[in-house]
Amino acid sequence: MVDIQGAKFPGYGRCIYCGATNPLKDEHIIPFSLVGKAVIAAASCGDCEKITSDLDGYLARQIFREYRAHVGMKSRRTHTGGETGGFDALFVGLFWTGTD
Ligand SMILES: [Zn+2]
Repeated sequence: MVDIQGAKFPGYGRCIYCGATNPLKDEHIIPFSLVGKAVIAAASCGDCEKITSDLDGYLARQIFREYRAHVGMKSRRTHTGGETGGFDALFVGLFWTGTD
């Protein structure tokens, strides 16, 4: 198995979810909330980042909460107390329509 933690892969010049071109943000391959540190550079637009961040937050708080507590994963919290997390490409397979 290849360890890609901390790696930054080049983007595609457009959002990997909707195809928008600007502005683009880095996308975690594995959610930051699950200690993912590898990213695809400039890979998601603000609208898609909001959707995936919401999903990532939900998964971290609801689905993986006990696991994260069990293994001692730390939260990343904003000044408003909300948990943040970049959209992650782990879920691309769930939403990818196969059209390009
Ligand atoms: Zn997008």
